[in-house]
Amino acid sequence: MTETLHIVGGGMAGSEAAWQAARAGLRVVIHEMRPKIGTFAHHTGHLAEMVCSNSFRSDDDEQNAVGLLHWEMRRAGGLIMEMADRHRLPAGGALAVDRDAFAVAVTEKLKSHANIDVQGTEIDHIPREGHWIIATGPLTSGALAQAIRAETGADQLAFFDAIAPIVHADTIDLSAAWRQSRYDKGETEDELTAYINCPMDRDTYEAFIDALLAAEKTEFHEGETAQYFDGCLPIEVMAERGRETLRHGPMKPVGLTNPHAPDVKPWAVVQLRRDNALGTLYNIVGFQTKMKYGAQAAVFRMIPGLQNAGFARLGGIHRNTFINSPTLLDHELRLKSRPNLRFAGQITGVEGYVESAAMGLLAGRFALAEIAGRAVPPVPPTTAMGALVSHITGGADAKTFQPMNVNFGLFPPVDLKGGRRNRPARYKAYTDRAKADWAAWLETTAAPLPA
Ligand SMILES: Cc1cc2nc3c(=O)[nH]c(=O)nc-3n(C[C@H](O)[C@H](O)[C@H](O)COP(=O)(O)OP(=O)(O)OC[C@H]3O[C@@H](n4cnc5c(N)ncnc54)[C@H](O)[C@@H]3O)c2cc1C
Repeated sequence: MTETLHIVGGGMAGSEAAWQAARAGLRVVIHEMRPKIGTFAHHTGHLAEMVCSNSFRSDDDEQNAVGLLHWEMRRAGGLIMEMADRHRLPAGGALAVDRDAFAVAVTEKLKSHANIDVQGTEIDHIPREGHWIIATGPLTSGALAQAIRAETGADQLAFFDAIAPIVHADTIDLSAAWRQSRYDKGETEDELTAYINCPMDRDTYEAFIDALLAAEKTEFHEGETAQYFDGCLPIEVMAERGRETLRHGPMKPVGLTNPHAPDVKPWAVVQLRRDNALGTLYNIVGFQTKMKYGAQAAVFRMIPGLQNAGFARLGGIHRNTFINSPTLLDHELRLKSRPNLRFAGQITGVEGYVESAAMGLLAGRFALAEIAGRAVPPVPPTTAMGALVSHITGGADAKTFQPMNVNFGLFPPVDLKGGRRNRPARYKAYTDRAKADWAAWLETTAAPLPA
């Protein structure tokens, strides 16, 4: 096999992609700009450096979607998981790792592999020929980011995420909230009921504003520019500008009638908008925030209808370079306009070390199969890998696309019979189904390259 796979970025995604391709016999070049060119968050020249927390989150592969992703990556012979397991630290049910030992181990493993060449170069352009994976992460260098914008269109690459909290639909109390689009806009039943509305009376609104102003906030990291763009101000910043600001902004109560109390005009209304094609997730419209996670859950559960809300992800605003994958990528992570190029990792709009490595694993396998001339069946959306890749390449709404963690809301619902309707039984059913489907998919892609 004389062809070479080039990978730009040796972080979580690039390292895993390289491993998956090289161990099957493909020649791989990793282009990693560090340590020659640094970022504000990385501190070493190691591959797969963990830039902040040292946790891969829950390792529970029966009850947790990220734990399931661990399982699927282990089952696929993933390097990131193997090294994380080798350097794990005691952390209860979470997978915490010794970050330096982990990154050194990944670096040594890749640098010593006969099929891998690691070059300390920044790639500042879009390669026109050859097989490439771009896995340059949330802190993609400026020159490459500009080249990606030139290729995809300026509105297709973001430099910040502005994430509104996302709620599991089945935890919204529809005896307090109701479905209706503002001013009953829309032709179809789906459009007419696209939003879920949560009404507030004056006292509830005032208490909500007090809690918002008092909540603990996170600061931007050093080196991140705390510049907010128009239209994505954190809600607490809006509230600081005046107690009525939210009531005249994202919480305006106009064009809506509460069927539970049609004669009472709400003082304010919080709206949630459908966030995925399955209709299992809803985002709270305009509620991007820098509140700390614990504070967010407490403050948002003050909203009538969300008192028992389960959050698929909480809100945030971060420095984060990511493309509009639902528009730009096909289901094998190829750039539609230039299919010699794949994207992987956080730049595709997944969020987190594990999710980024997972997309690297898939990109490496897809590239390998393509070079070997083998067709790969779609990754089953019932697996954690498949749910995530299906979401970013199609399931998510392109207009409001923001980075996403893996969570059970991305999976097609399980059909539970009889009494198996409680949450542990439901999650176990998700993970059992995923494991069987992932094992079967791996079988179809298992063959090594011909020599
Ligand atoms: C400040 C900050 C804190 C974070 N904290 C956490 C956390 O606590 N937990 C968590 O799960 N996730 C966290 N994340 C998200 C985290 O970055 C991702 O989860 C993960 O590292 C992404 O993996 P990746 O491979 O996509 O990118 P990275 O791991 O960042 O790897 C990308 C690599 O590409 C290189 N590169 C960039 N541009 C070029 C170029 N033009 N040419 C060559 N090389 C290039 C970079 O040097 C880097 O090594 C954080 C992100 C940031 C920015």
